[in-house]
Amino acid sequence: MTLLSPGMGVTVSFTPQMEKRLTQRAVRMLKQSLRQFPELRNLELRVGHTKTKLGVAFIPKRLRLPLYIRLRVRGLTYNTIGHELTHLLQGLTKLPPPEGAPAWAPLPGGETQCDIWTLARSELFCDDAPTYLRMPRTVRENWRHYAARVRSLCVEAIRQRSSRRTYIRWLESRIAELPERARPSRAGAPEQLSLTL
Ligand SMILES: [Zn+2]
Repeated sequence: MTLLSPGMGVTVSFTPQMEKRLTQRAVRMLKQSLRQFPELRNLELRVGHTKTKLGVAFIPKRLRLPLYIRLRVRGLTYNTIGHELTHLLQGLTKLPPPEGAPAWAPLPGGETQCDIWTLARSELFCDDAPTYLRMPRTVRENWRHYAARVRSLCVEAIRQRSSRRTYIRWLESRIAELPERARPSRAGAPEQLSLTL
C-alpha cells in the first residue's frame, strides 16, 4: 500500500490493482487535484482502478473512511479526477463535518451539478470537456478555446443558484450561445484592435 500526503493532510492509498498501473504522471495529477479540495483535509482516500470507465466515485452516505474512488490511468485527465472528488463532496456535505472542521459548503447531487462545481472549483479541471454538462458539439470539439468562458459561466451559475432555480438551464443556454458570439470574428482583424476607442 502506497501512502502519500500531498501537503493538505489528506492521506491517499492505492489498491494493489491500481499500484500495478500507477504512473508518476497519475500520482502528480492526483496530488495537484487534491490541493484544490481542502474539504478533504484530515480524511483518507483510497484510489482503485477502473478499465471500463473514466472514473467512479462511491458517494459516502456516512463518514466511513477511507473514501473511495476509481480512476482509469490511461488518458487520465484533471477533469475526471476533479469530477470524482466532487462526487465525494456531494455525499460529505450532506453529513455533519468532522469535529473541529469548518462547516461544508452545500453541494447539490447529480452528474451535471458535479460537472459544474468541478469546473468552477479550479482552472486545473478545465483540461478536458466535462461529460454531462450539455454543450454544442463545436464547444466540445474546440474545448480548449471555450474552456475559460464555460468555467466563468459555471461560477456565475453557482452564484445565481440561490435565486434562480433554473440555473442549469440558464447555464446551458449561455454555453449554447458561445459559438454564435464568436462567429463574427473578423478574419485578420485581431480582437484588441476592435476594442480601441
Ligand atoms: Zn459522475
